[in-house]
Amino acid sequence: MQTISNHLPTERLQALDAAHHMHPFTAGAELAARGARVITSARGVMLTDSDGVQILDAMAGLWCVNIGYGREELAEAAARQMRELPYYNTFFQTTHVPAIALAAKLAELAPGDLDHVFFAAGGSEANDTNIRMVRHYWAAKGKPSKRIIISRRNAYHGSTMGAASLGGMAAMHAQGGLPIPDIHHIDQPDWWSEGGDMTPEEFGLERARQLERAIEKLGEDNVAAFIAEPVQGAGGVIVPPDSYWPEIQRICDEREILLIADEVITGFGRTGNWFGSQTWNIRPDIMTIAKGLSSGYAPIGGSLVRGEVAGVIAEAGEFNHGYTYSGHPVSAAVALENLRIMEEERVVEHVREVAAPHLAHRWAALADHPLVGEARLSGLMASIALTPDKAARAPFASPAGTVGLICRERCFANGLVMRHVGDRMIVAPPLVITPAEIDLLIERAVQSLDETLAKLREDGLMKAG
Ligand SMILES: *Cc1c(COP(=O)(O)O)cnc(C)c1O
Repeated sequence: MQTISNHLPTERLQALDAAHHMHPFTAGAELAARGARVITSARGVMLTDSDGVQILDAMAGLWCVNIGYGREELAEAAARQMRELPYYNTFFQTTHVPAIALAAKLAELAPGDLDHVFFAAGGSEANDTNIRMVRHYWAAKGKPSKRIIISRRNAYHGSTMGAASLGGMAAMHAQGGLPIPDIHHIDQPDWWSEGGDMTPEEFGLERARQLERAIEKLGEDNVAAFIAEPVQGAGGVIVPPDSYWPEIQRICDEREILLIADEVITGFGRTGNWFGSQTWNIRPDIMTIAKGLSSGYAPIGGSLVRGEVAGVIAEAGEFNHGYTYSGHPVSAAVALENLRIMEEERVVEHVREVAAPHLAHRWAALADHPLVGEARLSGLMASIALTPDKAARAPFASPAGTVGLICRERCFANGLVMRHVGDRMIVAPPLVITPAEIDLLIERAVQSLDETLAKLREDGLMKAG
């Protein structure tokens, strides 16, 4: 077999990639025609590609490299664990030290009585666990009819059959026979796009009360749980109006349903607290975690579960569920080292006291740009809505995503990874980002917005639809 190294010419790597590698969430033929960007190394918040170009990664990979790239201690932790015990499972009455230590650490960090954890290899798997766990929980309590899980349109909960069914992305449901039965979707709290004449506060209440109406319509006896991201991530960093979560919490408190907070993005410091539930004052029964748990250095996820729920599951006999890599020792060791560094270096405090206030200040000013409607953020996750007409909060006449893609391409060309979701541009940089790096991020973003605006005018795309 030939050795594939970083020293092959970029075109050769791209040709091999196109010939053999199927990419997630990518139009394969289009990618093959243009060639994928090959990332070869990274340090801090900076990526280096196969041509030696430096790119500021304002997405922390896929919202996960919270601690930044190139941390030697995590590599050491992985190597140490691989030498000592590279693998053992946690099925059938066995366990190992990394899984024990990580479970105990998570119980300590998590708010309230979320003191048990069921491990998975990522967020999708964890949400599949949640589907089975909440249904099994109600069945064990003698209420097997409580099966329906209420979720939201444009939510992202992962890509497996179960998780993508929980998610509310129409483009995902259109492929492969989704959703699975007994998932019900209500609308998202996206005031900019869907708020009409309501104030954000009125709109937040209206959208939260959809949950109440859905429970009434479906019957409380048939509803197991409500799942939501504290702040929608992949849906476009949709920061809900302040009225939204208190009303959701009230409804969940008054009804006999479980609340699942999908904290795969918002967990581990992203919003300026350890968990988004603390920032938004949410009291979940189950919390989905992944991504930042290991800063993406090793695949791991899980479900943090309230003691009462875990107790019911434990009493109900065997839970016929698990993954070969549930609590994988190397991933658990890496996650533990990541959490140790986050505590020692006060990364969450850095987000809350330094990085997020600085980004908030610079990000808000983007709303003055002629192309930008709203600029929203929660901690270090932020979005801007691009629009041809701010006053009307109008979408573009071109198909959604046309303008966003143009902007993303300009960002790449200017050495910045900023993602587009439709015609929203989003960032979620590593949590260790410094104020100077935030200034560089903003400088490159403004340059890219200017170039995008010029191109839209040139191509006659600055039109409302
Ligand atoms: C990424 C993500 C997931 C899925 O996690 P994977 O590790 O990709 O399976 C689930 N929920 C949210 C909110 C996410 O952002």
